[in-house]
Amino acid sequence: MKALVLERVGELSLRDIDLPSDMGPDDVRIRLHTVGVCGSDVHYYTHGRIGDFIITAPMVLGHEASGTVIETGARVTHLRPGDRVCMEPGIPDPTSRAARLGIYNVDPSVTFWATPPVHGVLCPETVHPASFTYKLPDNVSFAEGAMVEPFAVGMQAAKRARIEPGDTAVVIGAGTIGIMVALAALAGGCARVLISDLSETKLAIASAFPGITGINIREGALLDRVLAETGGWGADVVFECSGAAAAMRDLFRIVRPGGAVVFVGLPPDPVAIDISGATARECRMETVFRYANVYDRALALIAAGKVDLKPLITETFAFPESIRAFERAAEARPGDVKLQIRIDMESEAL
Ligand SMILES: [Zn+2]
Repeated sequence: MKALVLERVGELSLRDIDLPSDMGPDDVRIRLHTVGVCGSDVHYYTHGRIGDFIITAPMVLGHEASGTVIETGARVTHLRPGDRVCMEPGIPDPTSRAARLGIYNVDPSVTFWATPPVHGVLCPETVHPASFTYKLPDNVSFAEGAMVEPFAVGMQAAKRARIEPGDTAVVIGAGTIGIMVALAALAGGCARVLISDLSETKLAIASAFPGITGINIREGALLDRVLAETGGWGADVVFECSGAAAAMRDLFRIVRPGGAVVFVGLPPDPVAIDISGATARECRMETVFRYANVYDRALALIAAGKVDLKPLITETFAFPESIRAFERAAEARPGDVKLQIRIDMESEAL
């Protein structure tokens, strides 16, 4: 089967490779349609590692995927061949302690597409547990289906924040995940979201959505702007999506007394945070690692028209152009929110 293979750092090829194709009774076989290019895929390509996960053997990239079911295992009842679907890329051990607690995203034995040594799905076909495969509503396209994975991170952040109706949120960092978090926060009940970045291009893309206001931190401190916008009180929820050490300094002054700071971005090194400042206001702190139990809710919001991810798809490449898509993604153009690769050219666009 032809797949996009990361051979070693900086070297991709589109070539035949043997991939597991055995079906169990609880699995479905899926013909892939669209796969998004994620920051993590690009990071493996440019750096060969993320933290302790290191590329030591050729690996197929891609984990943000949608497709069509072409075969179902004997025990699968909620899906049929022909169903359009999207998939959760992380497969936990369903008998693990974490899975039984409902926090399967932090199951130490979870396997996750395109995280070494597990292959991803930039290839024509894959086999996946039916229980982590979700039927797309008729009005949700394959392209939107492949956006559910990054949006799920936003959903998890909104859930962890325990938003109340009418909250004001601040999102620090207007990258792809920052925008996903802002949209999920609005869908989750926030009245408005103030989003900050250094890039005017990124802020313009984010602020095109109703309810989102961009703040360029080149023009002044975020803290001053947030206090001015909230009558000196602070934001109910602050989502830290930049991972930048400099962004941590004012976090517990940007948030209101008793508010929540949700850490989404990953600083490459340990950073200092103001525990006394947090304590003096009794702020709640939350962390986000991937997501659990949010895919069906994400699809419900998209199908209901409450979240529109389509404007975030910057460009779609055909499968034979996959390497070019990754070279483009590695350029990190500020106007590129999501690049996608279309694998299946035969099924309809929707
Ligand atoms: Zn991703």
